[in-house]
Amino acid sequence: MTYRMYIDGEFVESNNRQTRDVDNPAKGEVLAQVPEATTADVERAIAAARREFDEGKWPNMPAAKRGRILLQIAQAIRTHAKELARLETLNMGKPLSESEGDIADAADCFEYYGGLANKITGEVNPISGRALDFTLKEPVGVCGQIIPWNFPLMMAAWKIAPALAAGCTLILKPAEQTPLTALRFAEILDGISDLPKGVVNIVTGDGPTAGATLVKSHDVDKIAFTGSTEVGKWILKTSAETNLKKVTLELGGKSPNVFFADSDFEMAIAGALFGIFYNQGEVCSAGSRILVEKSIHKKLVDAMAERARQIRLGDGMEAGTKMGPLVNAEHRARVEGFIRIGKESGAKLVCGGNRPGGELARGYFIAPTIFDHVDFNSRLAQEEVFGPVVAVIPFENESEAIKLANHSQYGLAAGVWTKDFTKAMHLVKKIRAGIVWVNHYHPAPMEGPWGGYKQSGIGRELGKYGIENYLQAKQVYINLNSKPVQW
Ligand code: ADP
Ligand code: MG
Repeated sequence: MTYRMYIDGEFVESNNRQTRDVDNPAKGEVLAQVPEATTADVERAIAAARREFDEGKWPNMPAAKRGRILLQIAQAIRTHAKELARLETLNMGKPLSESEGDIADAADCFEYYGGLANKITGEVNPISGRALDFTLKEPVGVCGQIIPWNFPLMMAAWKIAPALAAGCTLILKPAEQTPLTALRFAEILDGISDLPKGVVNIVTGDGPTAGATLVKSHDVDKIAFTGSTEVGKWILKTSAETNLKKVTLELGGKSPNVFFADSDFEMAIAGALFGIFYNQGEVCSAGSRILVEKSIHKKLVDAMAERARQIRLGDGMEAGTKMGPLVNAEHRARVEGFIRIGKESGAKLVCGGNRPGGELARGYFIAPTIFDHVDFNSRLAQEEVFGPVVAVIPFENESEAIKLANHSQYGLAAGVWTKDFTKAMHLVKKIRAGIVWVNHYHPAPMEGPWGGYKQSGIGRELGKYGIENYLQAKQVYINLNSKPVQW
């Protein structure tokens, strides 16, 4: 299969015809070719988005009409949901049922922001004297949106939907590994005749060339990025060195999942496993540090290990697969590096740590891996693995649990498991993270804010917060005196 990029309403190759092979990670074989954008290609996409923002209809269209177009996009995603889910799994590896959930979320996200488009209002400011002062909310402009490979189309929706609702124009760059659903989505968008050409552009290419062209451009007003903390920091710095474009960042995590002795034990086992092994652990908010009260520590780890060994690994296209392969060979090597680091640190490898053999040897699989008695200061307890590897750390009491939970440069998410309401609420208040789940892990409802404390990011996506990223406030002062100013 050969795909093309979407620039200014046209499907195009890269201007030097260069392409990149995209893998099916379950089979370790090439699935498709996509264009490898050059700087010139990305600059053409930026120019189209700039023209549409400065001179086009989109930012000035009645908000209700923009909203209706977003609802059409939501419907179009639903019409193609089966096909998009299959493509997502073929390219990214996750189980098909999870891709189906992601595609449904992508559609819901367009619906949410479609509904919000005509509910953006400014305010009248209570100033003194004969004057009227009010605030207009205006779209921030041309947006460069750079996304990772773990939830490809859903991440695209989280970025594109609020930007469009606000009246922005944009250039989206999917991750090198997983561009296919975004490119297929471009074809679906192209069928929506009310969406002007050049408002949404989708370019495929690498970070240092295509991504960096967006970040350095003086014609881009805002960058929305989801990915590694390292690249996020570079983006912030580069924005400062160019045109001080607005930046929102959703970065890494090392999220604590905290289990008290008074939690429901069955819920705890399931929650601990789901927290880390869902989506192969390739989740920025994965519950990758399990903090467990000493009195249930052994029992919980034993039960987790027993169930982890039974998790069915396989091709995401096969029914019954619970965990797919990692996204590519390079990423698997990185995860294996952390497994080595864990072993060398003296932590106890309880299960996994290996590549499964047989049929699965072709793909980039890693067995669910649990390390116990991990030193809370060690690299395995502090650095993001982004794979199916969890660090278990026992604790003595509530105050130690809080201290350990916050002992991280990150602050994206946390889970707390207990039947004691007051204890749960105390932890909710004390843990420094963008979301705290109580007796659950992972739901990210789009009606609420999503983002990180500390080095997990800047800004919030989703909900009403998510659209603020794409708006800026303009104050308007109207003098109601008819006399010349006295000065
Ligand atoms: P990972 O290494 O886990 O894939 P990254 O943060 O490198 O995470 O990648 C996330 C996204 O950021 C991808 O779309 C990637 O192409 C992009 N990216 C990587 N480096 C840069 C860069 N220097 N400038 C802009 N985008 C980048
Ligand atoms: Mg990288």
